[in-house]
Amino acid sequence: MSPGQDRPAPMPARQRLAVLGATGSIGASTLDLVRRHPDRFEVVGLSANRDVEQLVALAEEFRPQVVCLADASAASAFRLRQQGRPSLSGLECLEGSAGLCLLAGSSDVDTVVAGIVGIAGLASVWSAVQAGHRVLLANKEAMVCAGDLLVQSTLASGALMLPIDSEHNAIFQCLGTGYRCFERPSGVRRLILTASGGPFREWSAEAIRGATVEEAVKHPTWSMGRKISVDSASLMNKGLELIEAHWLFQVPSDALEVVVHPESVIHSMVEFSDGSTLAQLGSPDMRSPIASALAWPDRIESGVAPLDWTSLHQLRFELPDLARFPALRLARECLAAGSMATNLLNAANEQAVAAFLDRRICFGDMQRVCDTVVQTLGSRLSPPVCLDDVFEIDRQARLAADYCIGSLEP
Ligand code: NAD
Ligand code: MG
Repeated sequence: MSPGQDRPAPMPARQRLAVLGATGSIGASTLDLVRRHPDRFEVVGLSANRDVEQLVALAEEFRPQVVCLADASAASAFRLRQQGRPSLSGLECLEGSAGLCLLAGSSDVDTVVAGIVGIAGLASVWSAVQAGHRVLLANKEAMVCAGDLLVQSTLASGALMLPIDSEHNAIFQCLGTGYRCFERPSGVRRLILTASGGPFREWSAEAIRGATVEEAVKHPTWSMGRKISVDSASLMNKGLELIEAHWLFQVPSDALEVVVHPESVIHSMVEFSDGSTLAQLGSPDMRSPIASALAWPDRIESGVAPLDWTSLHQLRFELPDLARFPALRLARECLAAGSMATNLLNAANEQAVAAFLDRRICFGDMQRVCDTVVQTLGSRLSPPVCLDDVFEIDRQARLAADYCIGSLEP
């Protein structure tokens, strides 16, 4: 199927799911929905990076055919744990990026939930797309690094991309069930992405620069993995989401707006050319967007508490302050500069966030690392034309980022 054509083939009575990043926050929300709807969903594959015990517990509960651990020594430990355990016998344990790609591209799978964090998820998203699966995309970094290539590959294979990042899912819902990702939506003037503003919304620039890890990962409205929590504190997350929205919805940068909305009740909006604006609202709980994509175009019960209109006294909106949150400005510049710049930005940011979480650099240094990598490599490398190019740019950007981080360490 290509965009604008017929609906994809109907799903079988029970959708067969591969949940990638099953031990993370997106994985947990997805599996909570599977527990509520055993008649609709069957887990055939689960993946994790290296958390053996958690994957053992999930495998015993969901009884998949295949698990995959990205880390090879963790996969060996998992196989040892299988011995003498009838509940895990017959379960295939794959490993590494190749194992993830096998699982994501398997013909035993209908739907892949892409919940791995970082570019580590890109190869498996690519594999799922090439196999023509339904892809529920949380892994925004895959789109940031290889948006153009993923668009082409999806259009060629007939895969169905369903965004579960809450803002993109909100926009997708507002565009109606006839809309397919990677089509330019008709009659749309602007897409407005909402941002909570993160924990430092009211902090001074100086206080933000010196923020601790504990302060950065304490998100006011959402409960998420550590990397995305830090990105939300710097507003880099919103920058990555602008790039993700550009590819998913095929709109230019000047038709993408960011509005800070501290209550996180409106998850994003679509402004149409006739002046109408549609918004999607709900409690800040990822089970809503995931449920809407899992059941799309139907609706299922998600366990999410409805909004309490009696206690919602105000919805506030502010423009983001680019002086205090320069990551958003840099992401926009990279979007304007093209695929290579966004590729560099993602890699530099992943390295910088990891160094911050390891307490090797301070919060404000993350921006310096990203600025430096984009500036120094931006004019030296050529834009990616295939997936290998994306990984090579990523590799070079990480080397440059590590060098920069080394020079900043106390
Ligand atoms: P998380 O850290 O809670 O979980 C990440 C998962 O990926 C874990 O299962 C982990 O084992 C696995 N993983 C980590 N490194 C890996 C590697 N190198 N190879 C293979 N697997 C690896 O993260 P999360 O918050 O669930 O976020 C996952 C993705 O979803 C991110 O791209 C994030 O931006 C996006 N997202 C998350 C939320 C949210 O509410 N958590 C919302 C929107 C988008
Ligand atoms: Mg989001």
